Amino acid sequence: MSAIEITLLVWVFVMAICLGSFLNVVILRGFSGESIVLPPSKCPHCGHKLAPWDNIPVISFLALKGKCRYCKEKISIQYPLVELFTALIVTGIYLKYGFSWNTLFLTAAAALCIVMAVCDIKERVIFDVHAYILGVLGLVYNFFNIAGSNHTKITLFLAGIKITIWQSFIYAILGLIVGVVVMEILARIPQIFIKKRAFGEGDSYIAGALGAFFGITNLILIIGFGLVFQVVIILPMFLYKLIKEKNYKLVTALVLFILLFSLIAFGNYYDALGDGWFYWFAVALLASIGYYCCRALMIGAKEGKSLTYLPFGPALILGAFFVMFLAGV
Ligand SMILES: [Zn+2]
Repeated sequence: MSAIEITLLVWVFVMAICLGSFLNVVILRGFSGESIVLPPSKCPHCGHKLAPWDNIPVISFLALKGKCRYCKEKISIQYPLVELFTALIVTGIYLKYGFSWNTLFLTAAAALCIVMAVCDIKERVIFDVHAYILGVLGLVYNFFNIAGSNHTKITLFLAGIKITIWQSFIYAILGLIVGVVVMEILARIPQIFIKKRAFGEGDSYIAGALGAFFGITNLILIIGFGLVFQVVIILPMFLYKLIKEKNYKLVTALVLFILLFSLIAFGNYYDALGDGWFYWFAVALLASIGYYCCRALMIGAKEGKSLTYLPFGPALILGAFFVMFLAGV
């Protein structure tokens, strides 16, 4: 790396930290309903106006030891975390995609994703407007094929008029539709058992917006990643909670389900026993245990005592970052 390249990298990192600082303002004032540009920064606890040196990203937090200079109230760790996370993501985008329109669009998408994830984790609220902006941004991004990875053009005849568009734009529209539809189906499955959605409409907005930005093929990866993430994080927490509640019946059923599922899905079960009646017996057993578990979990969720709530939106957004860096847009 040359001196110029290192200087540029540092500059991008510092700018990204400042962007993270701005995102904190967007998140805070999204909840308070204040303008994001006009009022000067103040302590959310005592309302004292902040001096410029109290407002330097990350550094002020460390210098003040995480406490307000005026009222000594703790400053939320959210502020430096969002700043550092934004800096890491944006610097990563820059390293992968260089100085380009692609980097600019991906940075804007990452910023919106971070705002939505923090709002969802913090207050379990997703502002529709953030998802709408991401969706529109995604349609523009793919209309001009800014990612540039998809060079195919498609000619359509609409009402006798010949239109030539990038394939990426069709993928974006399909992603938008499929995102909303798939998440609505997933959200409504519990309504078979109890009259309650699995998660709010906000998650469908996020999936639709991510579909519009990353296209249908990446969206399938993102939703798959979100589901795996949910299972990996939730399942151990959930089993621990059930054991603490001494609900051994459900623990046994869940463990049995996981074992049987892994055996049928990943094991050599098929090779060992063939596809005779015994195989179908195992599948039927799996289905009945699965039904029992779902029903018990959802009744528990309705009574609001045993189901651990983890918002789906942040899991999807994590999947989007996964696509951005590992799969590539
Ligand atoms: Zn204060």
